[in-house]
Amino acid sequence: MKILRTIPEVREAVGEARAKQRTVGLVPTMGAFHEGHLSLMRRARQENDLVVVSLFVNPTQFAPNEDLSTYPRDEARDAAQAEAEGVDILFAPAPDEVYPHGFATSIHVAGITDVLDGASRGAHHFDGVATVVTKLFGIVRPDVAYFGQKDAQQVLVVRRVVRDLDLDVRIEACPIVREVDGLAMSSRNVYLDPAARQQATALNRALDAAQALHDGGERDAGSIRIAALKVFKDAGIHPEYLELRDAETLEPVADTTRDTLIAVAARVGAARLIDNHLLKGDA
Ligand code: AMP
Repeated sequence: MKILRTIPEVREAVGEARAKQRTVGLVPTMGAFHEGHLSLMRRARQENDLVVVSLFVNPTQFAPNEDLSTYPRDEARDAAQAEAEGVDILFAPAPDEVYPHGFATSIHVAGITDVLDGASRGAHHFDGVATVVTKLFGIVRPDVAYFGQKDAQQVLVVRRVVRDLDLDVRIEACPIVREVDGLAMSSRNVYLDPAARQQATALNRALDAAQALHDGGERDAGSIRIAALKVFKDAGIHPEYLELRDAETLEPVADTTRDTLIAVAARVGAARLIDNHLLKGDA
């Protein structure tokens, strides 16, 4: 596996593969790898000739009060894990390689970024995501890029950028990888002390309660939400948001007859965690 730091090096390495008609898969990440990241790499490895993983803690998607400076970083461990998954190129640029002096462009996706994490973290968050992902697509020019359904709104934002800007890349969303007790894997789980780690299981338990009601035939979004909120109340957690929204448009829904995303964000101990389930509609 090559570790590359500059855009020209990546262009050259990918260009060589492309000249041999090889397919290119990209997995964008912020590092601190766990099984969620590795599942994307495995899928990319199965489906492409060349696998590129980017490792970049993107400063523009963090608000000033967020955890940019403390975000877990361990490039040597990440590199070893990526290599073990058969990744060909780890692109780990410095911030000024991605944002050189004078950088002035931002990609803003309207509408779907106004809600959930866009409302909670502020508009800058998805602007930062959309901009860096668009840059990565321009640098690597992958045939396919792999994202986790854990960040369901991010998948929708990236798909919208690709559609609206006619980018020639296929987006694959991969299932959420969880710990044995159901907690969605996240680089931020390292912030949890033992008590908070236990409390954090409430996110998936609440979503499971919602899922069970839906699977049992309940279709009223308000009733499903109340059942999930009860789990949070019992766990002593006040979610930043807990919402049921149309899985494609992120419009609020009154019922779950169409595919519905139930998404939650909550502060647990020192971590801000997100999770979601897709409630399959009746169509
Ligand atoms: P991050 O490094 O947190 O930006 O995540 C990089 C990619 O891995 C994103 O597409 C995430 O959605 C995905 N990802 C993070 N956690 C998980 C998980 N538990 N299961 C599946 N994918 C994940």
